[in-house]
Amino acid sequence: MCNDLDKVFTVGHDAKVRATVEHPELRIDADRLLRRLRELGEVGGIDGGGCARLALTDADRAGRDLVTMWMRDVGLQVSVDGIGNVVGTRPGREPGPPVMCGSHIDTVATGGIYDGNLGVLAGLEVIETLAESDVLTRRPLAVAFFTDEEGARFAPDMLGSLVYAGGMGVEVAHDIIGIDGARLGDDLERIGYLGSTPCPGQAPYAYVELHIEQGPVLEDHGDTIGAVTGVQGISWQELTISGQANHAGTTPMSYRHDAAYAAARVAVAVRDLAMAIGGHQVGTVGKVDLYPNLVNVVAARATVTVDLRNTDEAVLRRAEEALAGAVEELAGAEGVEISRRTLARFEPVSFDERIVDLVEATGRAFGHSVRRLPAGAGHDAQMLARMCPSGMIFVPSARGISHNPAEHTEPGQLAAGADVLLQVLVTLAEADSIPVVRSHPAPAGTGADPGAAITGAPPGAVVAGARRAGSHPGATGGSEVGGGSGSAEVTTSARDPR
Ligand SMILES: [Zn+2]
Repeated sequence: MCNDLDKVFTVGHDAKVRATVEHPELRIDADRLLRRLRELGEVGGIDGGGCARLALTDADRAGRDLVTMWMRDVGLQVSVDGIGNVVGTRPGREPGPPVMCGSHIDTVATGGIYDGNLGVLAGLEVIETLAESDVLTRRPLAVAFFTDEEGARFAPDMLGSLVYAGGMGVEVAHDIIGIDGARLGDDLERIGYLGSTPCPGQAPYAYVELHIEQGPVLEDHGDTIGAVTGVQGISWQELTISGQANHAGTTPMSYRHDAAYAAARVAVAVRDLAMAIGGHQVGTVGKVDLYPNLVNVVAARATVTVDLRNTDEAVLRRAEEALAGAVEELAGAEGVEISRRTLARFEPVSFDERIVDLVEATGRAFGHSVRRLPAGAGHDAQMLARMCPSGMIFVPSARGISHNPAEHTEPGQLAAGADVLLQVLVTLAEADSIPVVRSHPAPAGTGADPGAAITGAPPGAVVAGARRAGSHPGATGGSEVGGGSGSAEVTTSARDPR
């Protein structure tokens, strides 16, 4: 692996912009990281090597207990807040808000062992590596895991980080009822994670989250590191369709008010509108419940969830309007009533350009092929972006598979992401201010190639990939979010509190 970290901050046209890399020699222990990932993966383990640790279940408690024990083992001071977010802090040479990393350790019912867990356990690796090397950073460091990121049991998703960032009151969150009828606040208390640290939490100095991509883009392009430019906006709705139960044999087709048929039409409408809008628009009907759900009865009622996402808020609204129009038309045609409830609604988020650039430059300094791209899934980092400069690092997901026991990332890629996280965190913890590592690039067509400039042309085939990604940042999947322009201006929308 190329080690060219001393050149990280001399990128772009303004060589005066230079920060000191204090400890370029530091590397995390890849075997230890993998061991912890596997050990945590066994908590709530399911067939096929995955895990099921739905938020605030007994399995989640067991996972929390294990990670909290590890936090203490590596010397972190652990605090738990009123929504069960756990933050482990390592003091710095100077007081002040910490540079924070983290993610989540709850999973969906058919989860893999990397989603969320990687960001938390890589954070522990960073802390342990620094401790072993007797390195005390200028600013404190913190590793967090946020409650109920998946939203699989209690909607909305990213709930813990939303409350941490002040986007929802803690009492409101406690009253959320889960899919199994449980009240969130009661289960928080039951598993022993109703903490006393107030919400909203302290705004970190900066937040960086390492996560698996959960999509195919990095693997398809042979890239090792993703510099995440932002997160798609998410719209979750639940439609309740009320028709009329009737005999499947005796009711002529023209007499029916069939909730099951209407549910199917909703699914078709969602697919059609996503295809018609095109671009980054995606649409999913992932859950359908029928009542009475019997072979010989026309369904009286159906509940259908719709998940719409886009990197562009205006287009996402257009998708929502298209859905509303289709639903209204369908209700009239089939003679059913359709009511709608919003389960979650988050606008797209752009990450802090300085941190996106820092991630990109650090990845290249290691000799990795780096791609700028938006996140397709929601992440805690988008909530933290409301309160501090934030960013994310992606590593590839084999075949793009996630929320599946088959979820996989190669050990070398896990280590690569964790090492980039380490260097980014140390840089943010030491520098006087968040460094600007990329000035405005030369105009298109001049042949300027920031990728080649940063890598210092290390030996080996990685350079070709680095050049390709670096020379066309706007040509990746991510041009809509974060601009991909290489501009060093800070995106203020990412820090807008609402
Ligand atoms: Zn996740």
